[in-house]
Amino acid sequence: MRPVTHNTKVKFVEPPQGHAGEGFFAMKMSEAVGLARSNSIWPLPFATSCCGIEFMATAAAHYDLSRFGSERMAFTPRQCDVMMVMGTISKKMAPVVRQVYLQMAEPRWVMAVGACASSGGIFDTYSVLQGIDQIIPVDVYVPGCPPRPEAILDGFMRIQDLVKEESLRRRHSDKYKELLNSYGIQ
Ligand code: SF4
Repeated sequence: MRPVTHNTKVKFVEPPQGHAGEGFFAMKMSEAVGLARSNSIWPLPFATSCCGIEFMATAAAHYDLSRFGSERMAFTPRQCDVMMVMGTISKKMAPVVRQVYLQMAEPRWVMAVGACASSGGIFDTYSVLQGIDQIIPVDVYVPGCPPRPEAILDGFMRIQDLVKEESLRRRHSDKYKELLNSYGIQ
């Protein structure tokens, strides 16, 4: 049995930028909102095949997605912030993916987990959608067939980075409206 050692080098998270003084800390509103949002993202798992099994491992005790404040998963789009599409999406299923995305409230983010969701994967066939970005905008792509839970967590942390940095005005910007318009979304 290994001896128990106590690591006294505790690493603290970097504080957000701001102005500190005696008894106060001031920061930008957008950074405070970003900090709160990025550590309480509620995922909507849209799992259709094998990549979904890796996601189950990601959410289970060993990898523990709840460490990121994201243990609260839901299949009700109006309560979720990030849609995680995991698995092969057939063309028949594509309108369902899009409908779920449309039912999510802004701000919303999308992760394409694995080769199938990102590009159709090995299924270059008439019946499989060659990447969900053909129907909805994607923020983060996670490579792999399937990606390991570490890769899914890494993709999740990239989403956290985007959430943290996003300006409060982005969703009202012309550029964002243009992006949605290019997908035929008003
Ligand atoms: S990327 Fe590979 S593991 Fe993931 S759903 Fe497609 S075939 Fe399955």
